[in-house]
Amino acid sequence: DRLVVAESLPQESNQDHAIRPKRLAEYTGQPQVREQMEIFISAARGRKEALDHTLIFGPPGLGKTTLANIIAEEMGVHIKSTSGPVMEKAGDLAAMLTNLEEGDVLFIDEIHRLNPAVEEVLYPAMEDYQLDIMIGEGPAARSIKLDLPPFTLVGATTRAGLLTAPLRDRFGIVQRLEFYSVADLTGIVTRSAKLLGLQADQGGAEEIARRSRGTPRIANRLLRRVRDFAEVKSDGSITKELADLALNLLNVDTHGLDHMDRRLLLAMMEKFAGGPVGVESLAAAISESRDTIEEVLEPYLIQQGFMMRTARGRQVTQLAWLHFGLTAPD
Ligand code: ADP
Repeated sequence: DRLVVAESLPQESNQDHAIRPKRLAEYTGQPQVREQMEIFISAARGRKEALDHTLIFGPPGLGKTTLANIIAEEMGVHIKSTSGPVMEKAGDLAAMLTNLEEGDVLFIDEIHRLNPAVEEVLYPAMEDYQLDIMIGEGPAARSIKLDLPPFTLVGATTRAGLLTAPLRDRFGIVQRLEFYSVADLTGIVTRSAKLLGLQADQGGAEEIARRSRGTPRIANRLLRRVRDFAEVKSDGSITKELADLALNLLNVDTHGLDHMDRRLLLAMMEKFAGGPVGVESLAAAISESRDTIEEVLEPYLIQQGFMMRTARGRQVTQLAWLHFGLTAPD
C-alpha cells in the first residue's frame, strides 16, 4: 500500500497509457541514452536493417518498458512483449520467435529471470537468427532448425549483475538508466498534467517532482493523488501550496520518505542512538522482516545517504539526524 514504491501497482498500467511517451523526442531526461539511441536507430533505418539487440538496465519505474516501445515505434516495426519468468519452457519462446516479422522488436522484461533452458534457445536466435529446438521426448524426440527473420531483442533488467555472461555478450547496445533529476521530473509531471487536462504550475510540478525519488512512475502516481486533492479541496489547479498540503497528508515527506522509511530511521535514532545496530535487532524493533529491511526499505535510504551499512551493522548518517531535526549523541 505504499505510494512511493517504484514497482507498478495494479491498475496503473491501464491508467498509464495516455501519458506514456511514444517517441524519443518525448522521452524526458536520460540525455546520453536518448542521443545514442537516436543515432543507432537512424543508422539502422538508413541501412534498412534490424537494430542491434539492446539491453536496458536500471531500477524499476525509470522507463525501460517505455524505451523498448519507443524503439519499436521509431524503427517503424511491431513489438511483442513478454517477461523472463512468464516463459517457462523453450517452446514458449519458440512460439514468440516464430511470430516475429522482419525487423520486429521482441521485448523481454526481467530478462535475468529466464529459465536456463529458455535462455539456450535465445543464443542462436540472437546470433544467427536461427531457431534450434528439440521437440518431443524419448526415442521420438528430434531437433528442428528454422530460419528466423532478422529481429531486435530488447531485454530489460533491474539487476545487470545477474545476467549470464553469454547472454550479456550477445547485446550490441547496452543502456543504463539513471535516477532522474528534479528538473527532469518536473518536466515529466508538467507533461503528464497537460495530457490529463490538469492545471499544474511550475511550483506545483516541482513539489511533486522533489518527492518522487528520482522515479517517473512515482511522479505520475503522486500527480494523480494530488489531483484528487485539487479537485476536492480547491478549484482543481495544482500549486506548490496544494501539492505540499496533499503530499503531507499522504505521508510523503519533502525527501519522498514515507511512514515506513521514517519508522526505520527513527527506530535507529531513538532506540539505538543512531547505530551501528544489527539488522536482526532492527527488524525486531520495528516488527518487520529482515528481508523487508534489506530489499524494500534500505536501498533508497542508503542511496540517498540517510543510512549506511557498516561491518558492525546499520548506522544513520548526519543527514538523517538533520532531516528529523534531532541531535546525534556524542
Ligand atoms: P520500467 O519498465 O523501467 O519499470 P516504465 O517504462 O514502465 O518503467 O516507466 C514507468 C512510467 O514512467 C511510464 O509509464 C511513463 O509514463 C513514465 N516514464 C518513464 N520514463 C519516462 C521518461 N523518460 N519521460 C517521461 N515519462 C517517463
